[in-house]
Amino acid sequence: MYPKKCAACGGPVAESVGTLPFSVRGETLEVPGVNHGACGECGEVYLSLDAAERLQAEAVRMSKAARGLLSPSEIREIRRSFAMSQAAFEGLLGVGPKTVIRWEKGTVFQGATADRLMRLLRAQPELARVLTSGQLYVQARAPERSRA
Ligand SMILES: [Zn+2]
Repeated sequence: MYPKKCAACGGPVAESVGTLPFSVRGETLEVPGVNHGACGECGEVYLSLDAAERLQAEAVRMSKAARGLLSPSEIREIRRSFAMSQAAFEGLLGVGPKTVIRWEKGTVFQGATADRLMRLLRAQPELARVLTSGQLYVQARAPERSRA
């Protein structure tokens, strides 16, 4: 909910939809279609808590898309496709505790390596079994030396 009168100048605040700037990791993104209250006199913007959360989530999604990274919701979908808790998914990927919750909230961006690993798992879900089976850690036999 927005105030009826602007706290800055006392002008009337009207409901509006438009593009608002939001800063993510030092980069300002222009997020379109944001519901907000706008002062008719000074242009002060008022956001409901819900709208502020959506604005942040959309700015994070846009910033990650521009960097070629999976969005928080895509990461959550991949994890859920394996029916794994955040902790179990961290174990599968080999990342530290609380890492996946931060990726899914958008507060921390995954690195390119983790991003590619998650894309591989999405494309080839059976690779999760390869990761958990331990077969990657069996040492390959060294080729025998030729006597020639
Ligand atoms: Zn105002």
